Amino acid sequence: MSLKKDTPFIIPIFLPNLGCPHQCAFCNQTSITGVTSDTISPETLCLLINEFLGYKKTQRRSVQVSFYGGNFLGLKKDYIRILLDETTKFVKNKKVDSIRFSTRPDTISDKQLDIIKDYPVSTIEIGVQSMDNQVLAMAKRGHTALDTEKAAALLKEQNYDVGMQMMVGLPGDDENKSLFTAQKIASLSPNFVRIYPTVVLAQSRLAVWYRKGEYTPWSLSRCVSLAKNLYLFFKSKKIPVIRMGLQASEDLVKDTTILAGPYHPAFGHMVHSEIFMDMAVSIMEAKNGSCEKITINVHPRSISKMRGLKNKNVESLKKKFQIKSLEIIPDLSLAEDKLRVVS
Ligand code: SF4
Repeated sequence: MSLKKDTPFIIPIFLPNLGCPHQCAFCNQTSITGVTSDTISPETLCLLINEFLGYKKTQRRSVQVSFYGGNFLGLKKDYIRILLDETTKFVKNKKVDSIRFSTRPDTISDKQLDIIKDYPVSTIEIGVQSMDNQVLAMAKRGHTALDTEKAAALLKEQNYDVGMQMMVGLPGDDENKSLFTAQKIASLSPNFVRIYPTVVLAQSRLAVWYRKGEYTPWSLSRCVSLAKNLYLFFKSKKIPVIRMGLQASEDLVKDTTILAGPYHPAFGHMVHSEIFMDMAVSIMEAKNGSCEKITINVHPRSISKMRGLKNKNVESLKKKFQIKSLEIIPDLSLAEDKLRVVS
């Protein structure tokens, strides 16, 4: 049950809070997705998949239908089957390659996996959030780190591709606990990871705590710096980080949805920019001194990461090293995560 090794074309099907045993403190999926319907009928699911298939431009990418936003294995058995039966028709017609979904670690059991075993499910994402039991308890998750360990072992045993989502900045969290979570996650060998900063969503329990002054969201710069360290850690373990930050959508930027917290539509870009800034600074420091004129070569796809948002990296480098002229030149011979400084 391995994915074709390309970036699949994802058809997202949102199941806001469906199958959730309760609402976790930070969560309000209705807020995130803007979807308020109770359930999705097979007819609607069929329409949605066909609509998205119409947007697909190239034939070469594999296609995955992805159930997000709820707790898939917490849905009623019959409803899981209805959704998977309908989606499998598209797989049989060769319009879709496979199915993925996200679910809570404590709903992954032999019994639940039995329900899906005859369907073309290739990828299962686990909402890990933290591997610190105190942080999990404060977030009202209702499961422990051990549940995640058991779930990961079961999924690996059954050859699913496993994704793990972690959050930073939850109540009681700090840099050390987040790094500990990343280490624990890496030890479970997921196929990929997502990192989400905690934001205060309207109608969540966190919003109540925030209004009472019982929870203070982390600053954007703190979250970016931590996400950078986590990203570099996962990279060192050869685990791809496929997303950092919440997905930009119109619903997310409305004041009514995010009350506070480190949300930025270019969060992931900011993390990569900080990585490039750090690399440039350490090369400049090793050169030991200021240069009037320098050129930085990067892969063409990394130019905006090197520049930083609104040219921030360029301005900071100029100031820090008293550089009068700094040019960033594309160089296809360099890997996307490398740079060369010429003075
Ligand atoms: S975080 Fe996941 S399990 Fe918790 S309420 Fe949200 S969708 Fe449900």
